[in-house]
Amino acid sequence: MSSLPILIVGSMAFDDLELPTGSFKDVVGGSATYGAYAATSFAPVRLVAVVGDDFPAAELSSLGARGADAAGVERAKGKTFRWAGRYSQNLSSRETLDTQLNVFADFSPKIPAEFQDSPLVLLGNIHPALQVRVLDQVSRPKLVVADTMNFWIEGEPAALAAMMKRVDLLVINEEEVRQLSGEHNIARAAAGVLKMGPKQLIVKRGEYGALLFDASGAFFAPAYPLEDVVDPTGAGDSFAGGLLGYLAEKGDVSPLALRKAIMVASACASFCVEAVGPARLAGLRRDEIATRLDAFRKLQDFGGGPLPLR
Ligand code: AMP
Repeated sequence: MSSLPILIVGSMAFDDLELPTGSFKDVVGGSATYGAYAATSFAPVRLVAVVGDDFPAAELSSLGARGADAAGVERAKGKTFRWAGRYSQNLSSRETLDTQLNVFADFSPKIPAEFQDSPLVLLGNIHPALQVRVLDQVSRPKLVVADTMNFWIEGEPAALAAMMKRVDLLVINEEEVRQLSGEHNIARAAAGVLKMGPKQLIVKRGEYGALLFDASGAFFAPAYPLEDVVDPTGAGDSFAGGLLGYLAEKGDVSPLALRKAIMVASACASFCVEAVGPARLAGLRRDEIATRLDAFRKLQDFGGGPLPLR
């Protein structure tokens, strides 16, 4: 059976990164870019984004070669969106140094007619009103997944509330869940967010993995304990891309498929952080993902059979 197509809407960007290993300028990035590179290991991607006239055609060709259809990538007059960030020495935190919206400032996503029947939709981190505008243009997807960030939680609470009522699965980080709910305890914070609209919530906890909360209960996926983490940029987006990629390949969005997908997502994120920018994801092979999933299984294998004390 062939994989279902995934509509991915988000940013395509140039990032300036200050990492413990050095400074890197004009690294191609953006939520849609990372999401698409991860998802194309599993399923065809339909990309919707905006770039300026300075964005390299080679990057779109590289995404195209992996199976991302860039028919929805608008090339506008002007400069591509830019983001600059500085990471702490241990990579556990980062600070945004600069955000230049450029062509993103006037962006209104237009979903090409041939993308409007997309069964799976990934709304990357963009203005929540734009995320809603995307949903207004698609017909009854099986699953809508959205990301957001502190910037919108603080600045656009009404638009964010409207967006959350329209999505099935929200994938955000721990701080954002706390901020959104006003609760510190993660289980309580998750319960609070689930009352705001989404039926499922994934809380990303960086090197401490990710937690899913849904009607079947809670599920935990570890992050792979890598010795060399180079650049965490895009880990969240490649997590979401891998997650939807797996669900698209299986054509299944059941609670069990979602639990398997989170392990795949965590594997994709672990590759993302191994290199600066999306370089590692751009050449990622399925057998490499499979090998890392074996390693994940080993991480939690303590012998099978009945649990100790049972
Ligand atoms: P992540 O590390 O998963 O949070 O994603 C990092 C990517 O998000 C970078 O490549 C940035 O270009 C992009 N990004 C940062 N801020 C924004 C924003 N306000 N809107 C859209 N994309 C952004």
